[in-house]
Amino acid sequence: MYIRDTIAAVATPLGSGGIGIVRVSGPDAEGIGRLVFSGAGISRGGGFESHRLLYGHFVNASNASLIDEGMCVLMRSPRSYTREDVLELHCHGGHYVVQTLLQVCISAGARLAEPGEFTRRAFLNGRIDLAQAESVMDLITSRTERSLALAQSQLGGSLSRVLASVRNSVVEALSFVEAYIDFPDDEVDPSIIALIDERVRDASEQLAALVDSFFSGRVLREGVSVLLLGRPNVGKSSLLNALSRSERAIVSDLPGTTRDLIEEIISIEGLPVKIIDAAGIRSHHADCVEQEGVRRALAQLSVADLVLLLVDGSTPLQPDDHAILSSIGETPFIVVSTKADLPQHADLSTLFSPLGAFPVSMLSGVGLEQLAKAIFNYFVHLPDSSSGDFVVVSNVRHRDVLERSLQSLQSFFCNRQRAVSLEILSLDLRESLSALGEVTGAISNDELLDVIFSSFCIGK
Ligand code: GDP
Repeated sequence: MYIRDTIAAVATPLGSGGIGIVRVSGPDAEGIGRLVFSGAGISRGGGFESHRLLYGHFVNASNASLIDEGMCVLMRSPRSYTREDVLELHCHGGHYVVQTLLQVCISAGARLAEPGEFTRRAFLNGRIDLAQAESVMDLITSRTERSLALAQSQLGGSLSRVLASVRNSVVEALSFVEAYIDFPDDEVDPSIIALIDERVRDASEQLAALVDSFFSGRVLREGVSVLLLGRPNVGKSSLLNALSRSERAIVSDLPGTTRDLIEEIISIEGLPVKIIDAAGIRSHHADCVEQEGVRRALAQLSVADLVLLLVDGSTPLQPDDHAILSSIGETPFIVVSTKADLPQHADLSTLFSPLGAFPVSMLSGVGLEQLAKAIFNYFVHLPDSSSGDFVVVSNVRHRDVLERSLQSLQSFFCNRQRAVSLEILSLDLRESLSALGEVTGAISNDELLDVIFSSFCIGK
């Protein structure tokens, strides 16, 4: 339910900062602005000029005391984030100042906004659809350029546009099916049947591509974790450094200096990758601290999406290398043969991985790019990963609903083969359309909206 009252919240993060912004949205926004702000640029009647940033002072109307100096802007409906009148008060960013200003707005008649309520209003007022509203959250939490591009493209309506095209195909097929419902089967023109099939097939293909893109979309948004495993001194810390181009890991000539876990989040072509450098694993000569490190390293296997098994290419393989290989278990792994700048003595044929073996040198940089590419390609399968304008589904809710829509189209084809009545076929198409509507919010309910928007922060 949408009660058109006026809401207010702090829009900037908690804590101290250069500036803090209190945002107010609703029919009383302008009235509240007049009460709490005084400055040049407000007309004699007290009206604000829309979309104009004004300088002035914030005051507490109840006792006329000064709160802060700052800037104020009113964005009149419908040219605002929520499509309601929106007032933004920009003050100094201290916690006390911002909270006082918020309190003053509440005393002047606003209600404290719920999490995500501004974006929810933008959706309810038709400014954005549900898929776009959800992408606002992704935009805020994106960690790499690529996940930002993904969220921006979805906010710009890319997913909604593809879905509109899917919808058109299904609607067209449905209109033919329904037009012929009252005809006896043998009177339906075969060319019409072919046209219906073609439209449904087009829609199915587009939906299947979207559903398939989910894994790539999810990893691009949430990232993956890659565990480095290998004997001491094979070059794990050096690889972590080379990949992250930072000096966070300790590199040393002494075996077993990396005794704890070191984690670094890096970006490989926009894929957020958490690299976990575990302690050097070896079965002999391990002191207690190192054994604990080994235990922790192996414990990470269950959470790692991929293992890089490092071996020293400049020496023959040792029993420990094979012991580590057998401890990897089910987790997929890539073999990395290090120190490629030195003469090579390791026979890699006994360490077969379907994902390949990559010789690398941290000294010369040889092989690093190919390794990074192999990691990226293992996780991300996009039709054209070089272009920024790709439509991928990264949200579980969208994937589930699209899968449902696709299943209805598949059921349509099964029923077609069984030559069931056109009524049943029409039902399949209607179900598919109804699921599509759930993604963009053409079909929604309060409960669903509560779940979606409760994950937002207050003020967004
Ligand atoms: P870790 O114990 O597996 O983390 O190994 P480190 O990264 O600490 O490296 C052990 C030693 O091998 C250090 O002396 C590194 O300088 C050296 N090293 C690492 N990578 C290479 C490489 O690609 N080529 C050569 N020649 N030496 C390397």
